[in-house]
Amino acid sequence: MRLVICGTRGSTPAPGPDFVRYGGHTSCIAVARDGATPMLIVDAGTGLRKVTTLLGGQPFAGTILLSHLHWDHTHGLPFFRGGDNPRARVDVHLPAQGADPEAALAQGMSPPNFPIRPSELQGQWRFCGLEEGEHDIAGFAVLAREIPHKGGRTFGYRVSDRHTTFAYLSDHHPLSAGAGPAGFGEYHEAARTLADGVDLLIHDAQYIAEEFPARAHFGHSTVDYAVGLAEACHVRRLLLFHHDPPRTDEQIDAILTGLRDACVPVIAAMEGQVIDL
Ligand SMILES: [Zn+2]
Ligand SMILES: [Zn+2]
Repeated sequence: MRLVICGTRGSTPAPGPDFVRYGGHTSCIAVARDGATPMLIVDAGTGLRKVTTLLGGQPFAGTILLSHLHWDHTHGLPFFRGGDNPRARVDVHLPAQGADPEAALAQGMSPPNFPIRPSELQGQWRFCGLEEGEHDIAGFAVLAREIPHKGGRTFGYRVSDRHTTFAYLSDHHPLSAGAGPAGFGEYHEAARTLADGVDLLIHDAQYIAEEFPARAHFGHSTVDYAVGLAEACHVRRLLLFHHDPPRTDEQIDAILTGLRDACVPVIAAMEGQVIDL
């Protein structure tokens, strides 16, 4: 399985010279079987624009799996040329909202907020509400579990090609389940289930410990929580993800330096990074 990290940020894009190496686009990861073009895209932040370049000039045929509907996970949709193409076939799966899934998405993408709505994208687009549980999506085994976040139903995912497995928890607010062993949130049961023994845990690492008291109510995790969960779940590698928009390249380097002796190998999401599992 090959992952290409196309967007690394949380909340809002971060352009500028201080963010060049780790990247400024919001959350998006393209997933492919070895040697194939991506069939599965996890989240549709502004990084989704970069997926088009991975398709070799072909229209996208596959699935976009959304963790939730916040802007930083959906704003790339109308700018995805590989998908907005008369020959594209795109299934969009999003956590079921108790309403028509296209209409739920259109609340943020339709006039007067945006010129077109999701159903007006070119090609064959289908919008599906996903419930918790095990699913077969684009040929991958996907476990969906609701995880605590703020402002709308949010899923974490465990994705496997039956040989290797990664877990994706981009936006996670474990503090809502209690302070947990280190004060950064409880090791939530759903998070543990998703992360248990995976080859790669991709986790919300928006804040560092010193920032957390003032921002704990924003609905995100600390680097410390991500590392603690990774250790508790015996994952093989942790990818710090959903970087805070003001977090500079140098600051992310410093975070990694501080984690050199962690029990689990830790890397930080970098735009354009290719991870083979
Ligand atoms: Zn987010
Ligand atoms: Zn969010």
